[in-house]
Amino acid sequence: MTYADSLTGVHRAFLEDLFGKDGLSFDPAVLRVYSSDASNEKGDIFAVVRPKDTGQVREFMRWADAERVVVHPRGRGTSLAGGCVPTVPGIVVSMLGMDKLIDISSTDFVAEAEPGLCTAIFQAEVEKRGLMFPPDPASGKATSLGGNVCTCAGGLRAVKYGVTRDYVLGCEIVLPGGQLMKFGGRTQKDVVGLDLTRFVVGSEGTLGIVTKLILKLIPKPEASASVLVGYRSLEDALSSMVKVFAAGILPAAAEFIGETCMEILTRTGECPWPDEVKAMMLFQIDGSRETIGLENARLSRQLDDALWRMEGVGKEEEDRLWAFRRRISAASYVLGPDRMGGDMAVPRGKILPAVRRFEEIAAGNGKRLVAFGHAGDGNIHANLHYDASDPDDAARTAKTHHALDKAVLEFGGSISGEHGGGSLKDVGQQLGDGEHELMLRIRRLFDPNLILNPKKGY
Ligand SMILES: Cc1cc2nc3c(=O)[nH]c(=O)nc-3n(C[C@H](O)[C@H](O)[C@H](O)COP(=O)(O)OP(=O)(O)OC[C@H]3O[C@@H](n4cnc5c(N)ncnc54)[C@H](O)[C@@H]3O)c2cc1C
Repeated sequence: MTYADSLTGVHRAFLEDLFGKDGLSFDPAVLRVYSSDASNEKGDIFAVVRPKDTGQVREFMRWADAERVVVHPRGRGTSLAGGCVPTVPGIVVSMLGMDKLIDISSTDFVAEAEPGLCTAIFQAEVEKRGLMFPPDPASGKATSLGGNVCTCAGGLRAVKYGVTRDYVLGCEIVLPGGQLMKFGGRTQKDVVGLDLTRFVVGSEGTLGIVTKLILKLIPKPEASASVLVGYRSLEDALSSMVKVFAAGILPAAAEFIGETCMEILTRTGECPWPDEVKAMMLFQIDGSRETIGLENARLSRQLDDALWRMEGVGKEEEDRLWAFRRRISAASYVLGPDRMGGDMAVPRGKILPAVRRFEEIAAGNGKRLVAFGHAGDGNIHANLHYDASDPDDAARTAKTHHALDKAVLEFGGSISGEHGGGSLKDVGQQLGDGEHELMLRIRRLFDPNLILNPKKGY
């Protein structure tokens, strides 16, 4: 594919005319920020544009396709997979100028919003009306709804409520060439034609630019309770989850904290558990004010064999427990100033063998694995810390990281449960040749000249 390798004077004049001074930047300092994301990788770009409405996006995409200018759609740039890192120089389209909350309907249980709206702001507005938008990525205060949809973001509550894909009823996207497409709608059910909304969810900006979202809402549970339970080993901790599910309890969240994380937590702050506690589970349940006490007691009975426990009912008390889980990522930097992260998913019953195998691989390369994550949906955060200024350490870490991706496939897993392929993951090792080829053919139907996020996603 041949792309424009710079912007001509005519190109610049077109962009200035379309976006004006406020919606366009060629400033090298600004371009530096927009050519990277939370992965810390970097690329090169010619310009950043910030459309205000769908009309501008359509006009821009018509022009970009005709001129073969590469386009990198961007939300809030929190991708950990390099989803916003330009692999081919082009123009970043920041969607943060389109952040309107269009409608929240308590009768339809539907919201409509522009993609640049911050997830946490949206959730707070929804909750004021007694409703809930369940997808809750840990990064939600810093992400956009469009970014969540295009990565199919998951979160802590996925075990009970599912991931972003389960809450997208419809969307509008602008294709290269400028055509506006409307998929799905405000109905909870719709089986007419192919479900193209599902194609867009998790498409990592490779099919079109999302300009509007129609999202499903549910009633907000009135009450919640959490329990943090300590065990002698990860084996025992994960067994407790099996007991909880076997008792017919579906927790809103079920998180595991592995042995290395426990060591890190005790090294970096006050911890209330005794020394024998080497791994933990954190459960949360939710429901009505009348029943939450009963449900909590039922959950507690399944955890009788825990060495230690701490319970919390209601947000304030629960926050004290969740603070330990939230501390892990930042505290892990005691193991090294740089990080390579994994977000693999395995079938729920394979978490333990997968973590043990990952630890073995890491130890074989002289590395320690930091494993924790969403046990309820088999999603393992497998992080490696290192010192990028030490070439030997950096090489051993990269080698381990690749070996972990390979190993996860042996467990019937996926190399990414949350963050997507982006520009960093070798998705080819997971996707079969035939399936990968079919995806690329579909991509070309949306984007025949492959101007959108080339070499990213899949
Ligand atoms: C500290 C931290 C914690 C995190 N925790 C979680 C977590 O719990 N769960 C989880 O799933 N992820 C998590 N992430 C990863 C990240 O926050 C998510 O992938 C998030 O959904 C990205 O949203 P964003 O607005 O930043 O999108 P961006 O990073 O800007 O973009 C992500 C992708 O979507 C595309 N895109 C964005 N907007 C549009 C649009 N309007 N049209 C077309 N394409 C678009 C981009 O091209 C890119 O490929 C975490 C990241 C950090 C840094």
